[in-house]
Parts: sequence; C-alpha cells; structure tokens
Amino acid sequence: LTFDDFLIHWVTEKPNGPALMEADRAQSYADLEETTAKIATMLLNSGLKKGDRIVWIGKNSDLYFSLFYGAARAGIVMVPVGWRLAPSEWAYIVNDTQARLVFTGAEFDQVETALAAAVPHVERFIGEQAARQQIAATARSAFEASGPDDAVLQLYTSGTTGNPKGAVLSNRNLFALRKNSADLDLAYTRWDADEVVLVAMPCAHIGGTGLGIMAIASGLPALVLSEFTPDGVFDAIENRGVTRLFVVPAALHIMLQHPRCTSVDYSRLRYILYGAAPMPLELLRQSIAVFGAEFIQVYGMTETTGTIVMLPPEDHDPNGNARMRSAGKPLPGVQIRIVDENHADLPLGQVGEIWTCSSNNMIGYWNLPDATESTMAQGGWIKTGDAGYLDEDGYLFIHDRVKDMIISGGENVYPAEVESAIFGHPDVLEVAVIGVPDDKWGEAVKAVCVPKSGCEIQEDSVIAWARERIAGFKVPRSVDVIPALPRNASGKILRKDLRAPYWEGRDRQVN
Ligand code: ATP
Ligand code: MG
Repeated sequence: LTFDDFLIHWVTEKPNGPALMEADRAQSYADLEETTAKIATMLLNSGLKKGDRIVWIGKNSDLYFSLFYGAARAGIVMVPVGWRLAPSEWAYIVNDTQARLVFTGAEFDQVETALAAAVPHVERFIGEQAARQQIAATARSAFEASGPDDAVLQLYTSGTTGNPKGAVLSNRNLFALRKNSADLDLAYTRWDADEVVLVAMPCAHIGGTGLGIMAIASGLPALVLSEFTPDGVFDAIENRGVTRLFVVPAALHIMLQHPRCTSVDYSRLRYILYGAAPMPLELLRQSIAVFGAEFIQVYGMTETTGTIVMLPPEDHDPNGNARMRSAGKPLPGVQIRIVDENHADLPLGQVGEIWTCSSNNMIGYWNLPDATESTMAQGGWIKTGDAGYLDEDGYLFIHDRVKDMIISGGENVYPAEVESAIFGHPDVLEVAVIGVPDDKWGEAVKAVCVPKSGCEIQEDSVIAWARERIAGFKVPRSVDVIPALPRNASGKILRKDLRAPYWEGRDRQVN
C-alpha cells in the first residue's frame, strides 16, 4: 500500500469530505489530491528525483502535511526537523540529509539567514507564503508514483539517550498497521466515521506526523495545531469537535495544571492516546478522572514507525487494575521477544530487552551503517533498548530504558517505577530518578525533584513516601531539589544530563 491507494479510495468515496484542517484553512480529499499532485510535479520540476530529501523546519501546519504527501507520492523523502532545536542542530540534520530544498514554516524566515552559510548544498530556502504561491502556480503533470518499499519519511529520534538518528521509513512502514488491522475491531484502529483527530504533538516526531498520516489515510480529518498549548487543545476540543488526540505524559500534566482544565466541555472527546514516555500511575488516574475520555496507551519508537503495542480503554480501570501499569498487547502483525544479554529468549515474567519484528520496522538509519547494524542485525528484529517483560496474557510491561537501569547492590532498579511512586507526593511537581556512583552499592538511587510552587521538599519526607510504596532497595538514598527538569523537545526527561555531573571522570557500566 502507498498513500496513493488511500487517496484514490477517499477521493472516490467522499471527494468533499474534510481531510486536512488548520485554524482557518481546510482541504477536502479532492483538494488534497490536487495539491499533492501539484507538489509532486513542482518537486520533480525543480530537478529532484526519487530518494532525494527535502527538509521542513517549522511548526505544525497543513502545508507541512501537504508537502509530505506530495513528496511521498513521488518517492521524495520528507525530513521534518524540530523547530525547537538550536540552529547548529538544524544545520547538522540538514547537512546529514544533503537536501537541496529547505521549506520553512511561518515565523521561520530567519532560518535562511541563520543556516545559509552552514549548509552549502542547499540551493533554496522556501518560506510558507512562497511555497503556497508556487504550488498554486504549478500545473500538475503525470509522474511515476512511489512504491510500497520506497522511503518517504525520515524522522530523527528524540535524542534522549544520545545523538538523534535519522530513521528512514517507507510507505509500507507507515501503512502496515492500517493494512493488518483493517478487519479488526481494535480501539486503536477502530475509528468512528465522524471522528476529528487532533495533531497536537510536533510533526518532527512520529507522534505528530504519524497520527496525521494515519487519520487522513483512514478517511478522517486531521486538525493540525501549530504547537501544543493547553489552551490550543482545550479550544480544539470545545470548538472544533475533536474526538481523538495523542499527547505525551508531560503534556497531560501541563493540561491538568491549567486553570481551565476542569471547566472545558469534554463531551465530544472520545479517546486520549498517550505514550512516548513512561506514564506515572497517579498522573493517569488524575487524567482519567478529569478528562473522562477513553484512554489508550501506545508504546513504540521512531524506528518502529510509532505504535507497536497498545493498551485499550477496557484495561484502564483505575480501581486497582494491575494492567494499568502495562503498555498493552502487540498490535496485529507485531512480534515481541524478551531476551537476555546473550540474546536468548527469557520466560514470561522475566525482565530483559524488548525486541520487535513487524512491517513497521524502519528501513534503517540514514548514514549510520554501524548503528543500523547494531539495532537491526538480528534477522529483522529491532533491539528497542527498552527493558520489560511479558505476562502470561501477552501484556507487555515496560520497565525503562536499558541504559537508565540502576544496578544497586546487585538489584536492578528501574527509574520509571520509582518516579511513578514519588509522583503523588504533595510537595513534588516533577521527579526524575537516576543512578549515582556509590562505593558500597555500585550505584545508589537518587531522586531529583522539582517542588510545586509554594512548597518546600524535605528529603526525609520523599524517602518516607517512597518507602511506603516500593521495595526498600528501590527507595532513593538521597533527594536533590532543582527548579526544573531538563527535557528534550518531545517532553522526555534527559536523565543522561542529570547523571553527567555525578559521573564526571568515571565510567558508568551499562549492559
Ligand atoms: P533516542 O533514541 O534518540 O535516544 P528516543 O528513544 O526518546 O530518543 P523516540 O523514538 O521518540 O526517541 O522514543 C522511543 C522511546 O520512547 C522508546 O524506546 C521508549 O523508551 C519510550 N516510550 C515510548 N512509548 C512508551 C510507553 N508507552 N511507555 C514507556 N516508554 C515509552
Ligand atoms: Mg530510542
């Protein structure tokens, strides 16, 4: 399957149905077909060919999605770059892609001045206005459509554990799930015909781009929010009839702290999808109580084109359901293995590295043969770098990143579990847990906390709180208080940055 197949289907089925919406713009499926054919023509006319890269630097916009689809139809690879990155990081990625065209979103005209000298192979920076005009002025012509295994999207990983890597994704990767679940009744893929899907997370990540692509290919309009703000999400829910959205846990936390959150009319909202980082149990409970919608957890990574495991609404019973701690079951067509350091399969219930195999697995990393080899070498399996176990019902429990696991006195401690336990402490706004060097234990558990405004955090109180909730060896030995946690653009906590000062001059052993 390619995007063309979906597009042609929906253009025949409902040419005037909405496909792509922004604050004050909307395109029907017929419009989108026309726009994307013009974009494909425009890109080919400017000398690009199948397999070439184009870059987008900007906030989320309908223009971004049009450009992605237009390029994808001709097999030209879109590379969306996070707008929150520093110019030097933009330059690194643009150079990595060797792109000749860089499209910039509204408010990002300064990109050209900031980057031009650093990215010599770029022939043209095209601003939003200019792009729209150029598309309108192009007469569509016939072109060779991309095939299922052609690359169409290159997404950089979030850079939580190291440098971001460009994961190259094909049509097949993007639409495998759609295809494998077409006849199944799964909350994640069962989309009601009248749904409106909100793209609230950045398009430089799979949680933004992937959701928009899935919605449009499934015949549902994607409403694109230029950037995540609680007000933007609340307005979209109240005034634009949004029925489904995806947010990371940090975004749910921000929404819950907003004064408007208890007075918004959520009656039309049906599903809140969350994932991309560990979800503290207390945050999930609070969210269920306030937003009322059905909750769906998703687990996946850029390298697996997003979601491969999903926890459906019926497993979100806040009254003591242990499954709420699970990330759910593999989606159709997805295989999961749990292996030890020697790559041997582990029995159910035992924690090891999560490996996965499916048509969602990326083609490979761009320009990084060694990283591709070490991530994908095992006969089509991707090593996720995450630790977890499967229970006897096939539910996957994710413990954490293998690299973040703390080995203290021979016991394995997973920061996410400790963070989840501390999360509900009345004085604690946010918390990150790391391993710091310890002469006796090898590593000792440390909690780094951010206080709620007006609150003071007492080390003893946090430790006592944790002791009531988790096993003794997982309880932090010490507590630091800082004003804010370091996070990347996806809202993920950068534990490696928190760890660095403690490990200066020492080597931290990682499995
Ligand atoms: P990098 O690979 O550059 O270090 P990253 O791994 O954060 O960055 P992404 O591909 O955006 O980049 O994130 C995938 C990771 O996010 C997964 O490997 C996992 O650690 C985490 N993750 C995703 N979904 C969940 C979830 N539901 N629960 C816990 N962790 C999750
Ligand atoms: Mg990763």
